[in-house]
Amino acid sequence: MPALTQTFKIPDCIKEGAKFSFCPGCDHGIAVRILAEVLDELGVIKNTISAIGIGCAVTTYDFIDMDSLEAPHGRAVAVATGIKRANPDKVVFTYQGDGDYASIGLAEGVHAALRGEKITSICINNTTYGMTGGQLGPTTMLGQVTTTSPTGRNLEYYGYPIKLAEHIALCDGTAFSARVSLDSVPNIKKAKQAIKKAFEVQLKGLGYGFVEILSGCPTNWRMTPQKAHERVRNEMMETFKVGIYKDITQGINYGK
Ligand code: SF4
Repeated sequence: MPALTQTFKIPDCIKEGAKFSFCPGCDHGIAVRILAEVLDELGVIKNTISAIGIGCAVTTYDFIDMDSLEAPHGRAVAVATGIKRANPDKVVFTYQGDGDYASIGLAEGVHAALRGEKITSICINNTTYGMTGGQLGPTTMLGQVTTTSPTGRNLEYYGYPIKLAEHIALCDGTAFSARVSLDSVPNIKKAKQAIKKAFEVQLKGLGYGFVEILSGCPTNWRMTPQKAHERVRNEMMETFKVGIYKDITQGINYGK
């Protein structure tokens, strides 16, 4: 009998015996896994420091074996900027949710992008504040029901949801900005490629790398994981178009 070849395994940088504390079916688990695969493939884990945002993302440092700081709410990009400027040889990234990055932390992200900080930010967009109970957030879609918008997001009252990948792409110091989705295997593969690219531009010293990841929050959406992925595919991807909005290595420059 031929020897078996292992083709799929737990990433080396995932802590031994780690058990994800995300809700069953949550896409954070997929995002953390592909992030860990990228860190393995780039061979940078021993030289990496992360700043993790407040929210469901916060437990990430419990799973990936890396140096990490928990940032105050919204301040992960500012903390990462300080880490990188003090340790320019380190690989530095933030992992945050949209409530953290797009609301209280928006100024940090935009100004880091404008300054061209050589860090990478991963932002999970699930259109709600997950950890605190599913309230309306800056990425909540028009008409979307949340615990604080029981009749749906009203345009006149709340305005439009923010489109992070496009906004960050418009900042001149951004080297890479993309929006990806975790609703299917092909899209998970694309998401991993985008995360890798967002680290590679940092490693080359080219500027700020950003990836917005469309993700399901089955708990607060009151849906099964399958229905949550259908919502990502049928509703979120209509409002938030996936794609690469900026990649200076490929001459892709949104709006220019
Ligand atoms: S509340 Fe939502 S985003 Fe948070 S872990 Fe549960 S399913 Fe995931």
